Amino acid sequence: MITAKARAVDGPDKPFREAEIERRDLDTKDVLIEIKYAGICHSDIHTAHEEWGPVNFPLVPGHEIAGFVTEVGSEVSKYKVGDRVGVGCMVSSCGDCENCRKGEEQYCLKGNIPTYAGVDKYGEPTQGGYSTHIVVEEDFVLRIPDNIELDAAAPLLCAGITTYSPLHHWNAGPGKKVAIVGMGGLGHMAVKIAHAMGAEVTVLSQTLNKKEDGLKFGADHYYATKDSDTFEKLAGSFDLIINTVSAKINLDAYISLLALDGAIVNVGAPAEPLSLNVFSLIGHRRSFAGSLIGGIRETQEMLDFCSEHNIAPQIEVISADQIDEAYKRVLASDVKYRFVIDISTM
Ligand code: NAP
Ligand code: ZN
Repeated sequence: MITAKARAVDGPDKPFREAEIERRDLDTKDVLIEIKYAGICHSDIHTAHEEWGPVNFPLVPGHEIAGFVTEVGSEVSKYKVGDRVGVGCMVSSCGDCENCRKGEEQYCLKGNIPTYAGVDKYGEPTQGGYSTHIVVEEDFVLRIPDNIELDAAAPLLCAGITTYSPLHHWNAGPGKKVAIVGMGGLGHMAVKIAHAMGAEVTVLSQTLNKKEDGLKFGADHYYATKDSDTFEKLAGSFDLIINTVSAKINLDAYISLLALDGAIVNVGAPAEPLSLNVFSLIGHRRSFAGSLIGGIRETQEMLDFCSEHNIAPQIEVISADQIDEAYKRVLASDVKYRFVIDISTM
């Protein structure tokens, strides 16, 4: 067993504390990673606060992981010691079902194994990236391109792929009008990626406070959703809307912004159900859809796309002692635009 230092939480109302966790000895296809940086995703907060259902505490969150390979199993062929690598939201899947065979492991019919708050193949609870080391099978490890710094690479492993995948799937590109709802961790990546794909990008944020940043990230237009005029002005105008909001929104109001055949895709995952009036969809053959992270092949494609287009998240690096404070700031929409933990401070 490998002992790793970590930051764990013991319950939904508890603060983070220092912890030691065991990582399994390397199996033949496993890679040991020394973690350098871990991003804080709003999903970490939903999970730690048990908003999505019961959690087996203690919990070590973190699924935006970047570091170096420090050891490889006897049959590892893709990575060697010293490689710069990342791990995202899943660490395994059955590998055999229809969806896994298509490279859509996130939709594994037997359920993918999440990086934390899951149970691995060996029956042990999975623990995430707020820790110094992790052992992952090589097929779920990503290669970080040389021109992306490790701290900035971390958020790409969730925020990057979660927005790249639906933008790609719903054909964001030249001639397409795309709106991004919410400009936090996922939202600001969505703006950068949609812009790089060639789409005309509009940000729909609660206020205009972050407008300057949004335009700098590549948005063509920026509107405040608290301004009731916004919904009248933009009615029927978008081909695609990506909703990244972590809370309940008035779906019908956003659906009314879609053009004929437009689609709104929810990646935001609030605990409360969202409701909609079907007439909002019927009238203009609109669709409402959801999307979960992305497959491993597509995640590598996203990293290479970001490398080619010089795209990286805007981050604020924090120490391990600042996790509780960072959670509070994310909940207050006071994040510019992703907190990343410097694991060396553990
Ligand atoms: P985040 O950094 O907190 O960003 C969410 C943004 O939503 C905020 O910055 C804010 O943007 C807006 N917002 C927050 N509360 C709002 C409210 N009450 N009404 C309207 N807008 C509000 O969170 P994140 O890390 O980007 O994650 C966003 C959501 O995606 C979370 O629910 C997370 O669990 C989910 N997620 C899903 C997947 C997936 O695979 N589907 C993957 C990762 C994360 P403005 O300040 O611009 O208004
Ligand atoms: Zn995430």
